[in-house]
Amino acid sequence: MTHGPGHRGLDMEEALSFEQDSPGQTGVDLPDPGPVAERLGGLRREGPVGLPGLSEPQVVRHYLRISRMNYGIDSGFYPLGSCTMKHNPRLNERLARLRGLGDVHPLQPQSTVQGALELIHQTAHWLKTLTGLPAVAMSPAAGAHGELVGLMTIRAALEARGDARQRVLVPDSAHGTNPASAHMCGYGVESIPANDRGRVDAAAVRRQLDSDVAAIMLTNPNTCGLFEPEIRDIADAVHEAGAFFYCDGANFNALVGRVRPGDLGIDCMHLNLHKTFSTPHGGGGPGAGPVVLSEALAPYAPLPYVVHGPDGFRLVEHADDADGQPLGRIKGFHGQFGMFIRALGYMTSMGADGLRQVAEDAVLNANYLLARLGGPLTPSFDGPCMHEVLFDDRFLRDTGVTTLDFAKALIDEGFHPMTVYFPLVVHGAMLVEPTETESKASLDQFVDTVLALLERARAGDVKHFQAAPRLTPRRRLDETAAARKPVLRWQPAETGAAGSRDKAAE
Ligand SMILES: *Cc1c(COP(=O)(O)O)cnc(C)c1O
Repeated sequence: MTHGPGHRGLDMEEALSFEQDSPGQTGVDLPDPGPVAERLGGLRREGPVGLPGLSEPQVVRHYLRISRMNYGIDSGFYPLGSCTMKHNPRLNERLARLRGLGDVHPLQPQSTVQGALELIHQTAHWLKTLTGLPAVAMSPAAGAHGELVGLMTIRAALEARGDARQRVLVPDSAHGTNPASAHMCGYGVESIPANDRGRVDAAAVRRQLDSDVAAIMLTNPNTCGLFEPEIRDIADAVHEAGAFFYCDGANFNALVGRVRPGDLGIDCMHLNLHKTFSTPHGGGGPGAGPVVLSEALAPYAPLPYVVHGPDGFRLVEHADDADGQPLGRIKGFHGQFGMFIRALGYMTSMGADGLRQVAEDAVLNANYLLARLGGPLTPSFDGPCMHEVLFDDRFLRDTGVTTLDFAKALIDEGFHPMTVYFPLVVHGAMLVEPTETESKASLDQFVDTVLALLERARAGDVKHFQAAPRLTPRRRLDETAAARKPVLRWQPAETGAAGSRDKAAE
């Protein structure tokens, strides 16, 4: 079959821009810079830089075609549990593009960026208010980065009192970043088993606590979508043992505006701005994972941070100017400023009452799914749930269809699958998080699709599931170890693939 590159078929292919190199093509004709040799002081480029020659229309079409192979929250329902794939309001984007915000440079003199510093200060104020904790480190670049920074502050606080504790307790339903961060910070990780209701018992925590435990890392609501009812007892036990309470705040969407983690005895918690506060995820933009800190941990917050004094807003950039013993920098400049703009835009446009409604509607939507799917599917734990609902694969027993097959079949129906095989505490997990930005109509559509697929599985049509997805640019990937050999179609040539501008410069 031959077709033009704009064809959208099942065997959709898109060559790399380097493979589309068309020598002589260029997006812009720049005037010949003339002789510059003496101004370069002998640093003349010796070969082409290796950029492909492409016209502007070629580049635009390339990226548009790639974008059509993608599935995002802007394409449809995206119930990826634990990830909080909510709609990113376009107002946020508008604000981030305002010239006075979008065009500032991180190296500008502070007197010329007072508004930007005020914006960071304001965002910090909202995060502190919503969590009930007195300090926040704004610069971590993701939730996982926030975990590391939080643990580094805990380690610093312990070392400052001459206490070299070695272990961190992590429930076995935790996100993989929790043990990874603890390990990165030099701690041994000890797991706490969940009870048969999917929760952590304070008694189990007490049994594992001793003078060698630096911290517990708990997620609340946990990754089974359940509130931890013994959280205050757990906090008391942790504090009595001289340890700190780290809370993974990835699920703050279930609590925002309703519960202040500081009131639950938490010392430290990261906030994924790309989850709760509607900034774009991953490919949509850089992440931001500010960490809120208790009084005891605040002196160790990393540089830089913004303070407000009689002369306006000021960045504290050096340890000598700081009140405590900061960790130094953990990220270039001030963190992801563009994300702070979006998050603050979101918080101020929602207001306190709107944020509270976010949590209420997120929980309501998840419970609606539980109510409609709880009978035909197999919920892992008794409801009600918080903002996400966990099913396991018992409902597929004897059908020959696995959780993975079921998820792949959903793709052909136009839905992004739920999170699968996480958390690890149930068999064949399916973790569904609808978020508050979905309507009842879109939830009903999803439920009807799941039920139709279930009927198909029960009718014995295993092949349909095993062959899915059929309607995507790539069919099912072979994820076995043997298949994981990298296939590089484009090899950078010694001199690079020379474009027209390189040629012209030679
Ligand atoms: C998303 C998530 C993380 C990690 O956050 P990133 O921003 O992706 O680094 C940690 N814990 C839980 C429970 C999460 O859902």
